[in-house]
Parts: sequence; C-alpha cells; structure tokens
Amino acid sequence: MNQNWHGTLIRHMLLLVTACLVMGLISGYYGWSMAVGLGLYLAWTLKQLLRMHVWLREQKPDEPPPDGYGLWGDVFDSIYHLQRRDQRVRGRLQAVIDRVQESTAALRDAVIMLDSEGNLEWWNRAAETLLGLKTPQDSGQPVTNLVRHPRFKEYFEQNNYLEPLEIPSPINDRLRVQLLITRYGNNEHLMLVRDVTRIHQLEQMRKDFVANVSHELRTPLTVICGYLETLLDNAEDVNPRWVRALQQMQQQGDRMQTLLNDLLLLAKLEATDYPSDNQPVVVSSMLQSIKNDAQALSAQHNHLITLEIDSQARLKGSEPELRSAFSNLIFNAVKYTPAEGKVHIRWWEDEYGAHMSVKDSGPGIEVKHLPRLTERFYRVDSSRASNTGGTGLGLAIAKHVLLRHRGTLDIVSAVGKGSTFTCHFSPAQVINP
Ligand code: ADP
Repeated sequence: MNQNWHGTLIRHMLLLVTACLVMGLISGYYGWSMAVGLGLYLAWTLKQLLRMHVWLREQKPDEPPPDGYGLWGDVFDSIYHLQRRDQRVRGRLQAVIDRVQESTAALRDAVIMLDSEGNLEWWNRAAETLLGLKTPQDSGQPVTNLVRHPRFKEYFEQNNYLEPLEIPSPINDRLRVQLLITRYGNNEHLMLVRDVTRIHQLEQMRKDFVANVSHELRTPLTVICGYLETLLDNAEDVNPRWVRALQQMQQQGDRMQTLLNDLLLLAKLEATDYPSDNQPVVVSSMLQSIKNDAQALSAQHNHLITLEIDSQARLKGSEPELRSAFSNLIFNAVKYTPAEGKVHIRWWEDEYGAHMSVKDSGPGIEVKHLPRLTERFYRVDSSRASNTGGTGLGLAIAKHVLLRHRGTLDIVSAVGKGSTFTCHFSPAQVINP
C-alpha cells in the first residue's frame, strides 16, 4: 500500500509539473504557470481534506467515507477497509456479548454485578424473580436498600464472604435464597443467588423430626427413670442379683435424658437466628459460678482451675444460652484433662471485641480432627468420650450459641500440649459498664 501511495504521488507530481511546463511553454511565463498549477493542486488537496474532516465530524454510524481520486482516493479506501474490519470485529464481539447475556438470562440462578460501593450495575432475569429487582429503575441503587434483611446488611458489610448466607427472599417469605458474594476486578462484587427452598424444607423436616422424636421420647424415659429410682431407693426389697443391673440401667437412663435435653436444646437454637432475650449478661460473675461448678465436677481429680477476669464488659444476649456454651467448654476441659491437670479460664477485651478462652493441660487434639470437632456426635476417641459420659453435642451447642451471638469459636490444640478453646465476640455485641 505504501509503495502504491508513493507511486501515485510521484505520478501526480510529474503530471502536475508537466502540465505547468506545457502551460509555461504556451504562455511564456514558467514561474507563474508553476505557481498557478501548485495553487490549484493545493486547493484541490484542501478540498479533499475538508471532505474528510466533514465526514469524520458528522460521521453517521457505518456511513462509508466519501469517494476520492488519486492519493485521496487511496486514503479514503484505506479508511473504508479499516471501518469494515472494525465493523466485523464489533459484530463478533456483540455476538459474544449477546450469547453471554442470553445464557445468563436463561440461568435459574441470579447473577448480580455490583460496583465497589455495593450499587447495582447489572443483573439477569432470575434476579428479578428471586430478589424482586426492577429493570431499569433499580440500576445504581445500593443493594442493601433492596435486600433489606438485617443479616444481609451485616453479611455485606463485614466483607468476609467465605460462607454463603441463607435468608428468606425479599419478595416471597416462603422462598429461601442462598447468597454468595465474590469480589473481582477493582473491588467490584459478583453476587450469585440460588433458590434453596427445597433443601431448606428438607433440612427443616430433619430438624422437626429430631425435635419431635426427642420430645416424644422424653415422657416414657422419665417414667422408666422414675421407676428405676424408686426401685433403687428400696434396694433392700430387690433381689440383690438385680441391684447392679438396675444401677446400670439408671446410669444409661440418665445419659439418655442428657442426650435428649441436648438434642432439644440444639433444636431450639436452630429454630431462630437470634436469641429472643437480648439482655446484658454479666460474664464475669457467670464465669465465676461456672468455675465453682467445674471445681465440683473435678472433685477428687483435683484440677487446678484458675479464672482471670480482665474486663467487666457485658455481652448482649441470652444468659442461659451463653452459660450453656461456656459450661460445655469449661466442663470439657475438666473432663478431658487428667487428674491434677490445669484449666485456665480468661475473659478479656481488646479492639476486636471481647473474648473468653479455656486453656487446659490435657491430652490435646490432633490437627486433623479440629475442623470436624463441632459436628454433632463427632468424637476424637469414642472410647475415651463414652467414659466421660459426654453426649457428643457439647461443642455443636457451643458453636450454635456463638453463631447466634455473632461470635466465633477458635480451637488451638496440639497432641500432648493441651487445648485452648476461645470464643470471640464482635464489638457490636459488647456493652461496657
Ligand atoms: P462430648 O460430649 O463427647 O464431650 P463435645 O462435642 O463436647 O462432646 O466434644 C467433642 C469431642 O471433642 C470430644 O469427644 C473430645 O474427643 C473432644 N474434646 C472436646 N474438648 C476437649 C478438650 N478440652 N481436650 C481434649 N479433647 C476435647
């Protein structure tokens, strides 16, 4: 193309000079002929430039450039080819965008793009049915204005999106949606929303089943345990051969009762997201009384139980729930630490909130068990655990209670070096006297 241009240019110049020389020969004024020829050429060039300028300025979409001759014809042709190539690339890109939009529109899961501030930028059709977003009115609105559930606001603002969040849909209470946020690009957010109503219903059925069975078993068990107690109270009337059997039956009956109570407590904790009684709980005196109970539990095992209170902060929440969570952790430390061992309880506060830790000098737990420890009925060593009379639900209860109090449970342990269970509560949950 470059050579073409050069050739054309040289041809034009030669033609011009020849025409000027011929004019000069006829008129006898070489200088003037040359000046007039060059002036005319300059005027023609300026006219072409002007045509191009007008075309560029007023260019209507996809209108081809004007026709031209010679060098300017080449320039206009080149622009025209560039324009065609650009149109083809744009067409291909548009086709890709159309396909992506078509496929995301067909998705049953909602896809929502939010800017770094959390304002809505783009969403697919499922977002309208699951969350009730309206096109185009809601564009640019903060997502927390449209999904108004308090847990969503908290979840969105905490900036930690490792776990998904499950809430009722803002447009239909019977619909349950699961939200998962990921960050991309320049701190923008991509939010995926799934309809999990069916899974939620199944989960609910499981919870109801466990709660109902536990509840139904309680009455017959109370009767059996009552009769066993009466029989053992009158052991002299009972054939001595049966006394040992009756004692074992009573022991197992008591275990079953604790198990049912724990199952019912878990069912109650799962029924709502937050405790209904949000009273300031004086943690220091609660820990003192749990420490006394732990000392009684230790009895002849003679553990050295110490309590360090570094804060008078109170916690917003339910007293019985927090007591049950802390007792489970502290009693576990006593149960699993051999006689004469040490248990240290600490309550303190810092810029991250308030914390309660229980450190023991017990056998410790292998790292591979730690992630599963708070699962129901998960036991590190079932023979050891059944000796302690545990139900296998203690840590599950503790975790649930903490979840309801915006807290987290942190477990650090190494075999032979003891374990430390720490409950962390966010500053929003702490009340200072
Ligand atoms: P359990 O009723 O069996 O104590 P938990 O849910 O309270 O059930 O605890 C689960 C398991 O975690 C226990 O069976 C035990 O193996 C282990 N565990 C809990 N606390 C401690 C601790 N302080 N030291 C060692 N192991 C522990």
